[in-house]
Amino acid sequence: MQKSKRTILIVDDTKINIDILLDLLSDYDVAVAIDGKSAIEIATGECPDLILLDLMMPEMDGFEVCEILKSKDDTKDIPIVFITAKTDEDSIERAYEVGGIDYVVKPFKPRELLARVKTQLKLKELLEHLEFIASHDEMTGIYNRRKFFYEANKKFEDSKEGLFAVMIDIDHFKSINDSYGHPLGDKVIKLITSTIAENILKDCIFGRIGGEEFALLCRENYKDELVNNIESVRRSIEKLEIISDSKKSVKFTISNGIAQADANTKNLDELLKEADIALYKAKDCGRNKVVFR
Ligand code: GH3
Ligand code: MG
Ligand code: MG
Repeated sequence: MQKSKRTILIVDDTKINIDILLDLLSDYDVAVAIDGKSAIEIATGECPDLILLDLMMPEMDGFEVCEILKSKDDTKDIPIVFITAKTDEDSIERAYEVGGIDYVVKPFKPRELLARVKTQLKLKELLEHLEFIASHDEMTGIYNRRKFFYEANKKFEDSKEGLFAVMIDIDHFKSINDSYGHPLGDKVIKLITSTIAENILKDCIFGRIGGEEFALLCRENYKDELVNNIESVRRSIEKLEIISDSKKSVKFTISNGIAQADANTKNLDELLKEADIALYKAKDCGRNKVVFR
């Protein structure tokens, strides 16, 4: 979720430097760390939008802090600006090599530093926006196909223990489009998506993987818990209606196929294929069903 105010972590072991920066950055939420170890703790816990990192600190220097932050999934995307009294070219070069995005020499010009901070925050915002567009389905706001497979593969690689895949397909959707037009079809897709999203068990990865096809990847202790959950989603959806322009009640249903990973499941594709086979059984058995394979 987008934070209302951007947060900046200042890492410096000298009080006077911290005070100058706090004064300069009063428009932002600012956290302070006085050594490398606590900088890593705060960065991991609070995920700031930018880190201003001193180079020379006792125990762990700025290079080491930066290398550690860049090696961890949680913190690798936080831009790091070095602020340091060191002006030799080796230090500047090394700062960029370990992943720094900018290098400011102390004593710095306050307005210049502020401008650089604003530039980095703006770039980060743009990147986040691009990343969101690239990973979410524009119509429904849930994960698109690419992001679903990316996240689902990660979950599968973590462990396939207790993993379930669910394939969901809207029934006779073509005839809804043909009878009432594409815009109403779009409304159906959006309403079905929000109903699934509101009712599925927490922590499931949910994506729109095709026009009127959705997939879930969930880790559950009990098969029945998931099957009952999907069954209740199915029931919720069959109760919905959308009123057409000609004041007709339009009803719609979904078919659902579920498969569970076991010791023989080689990869995510295989698990999804199993769920797809179950989905086709649900279609064959009259649609508006949940089938576990
Ligand atoms: P079945 O029960 O066998 O799944 O039948 P179906 O009609 O749902 O399946 P079919 O694959 O024949 O048709 C899917 C239709 O979904 C065709 C396509 O035009 C429509 N569709 C795909 N994406 C969208 C979309 O974003 N909006 C709208 N309105 N329709 C879409
Ligand atoms: Mg389909
Ligand atoms: Mg369909």
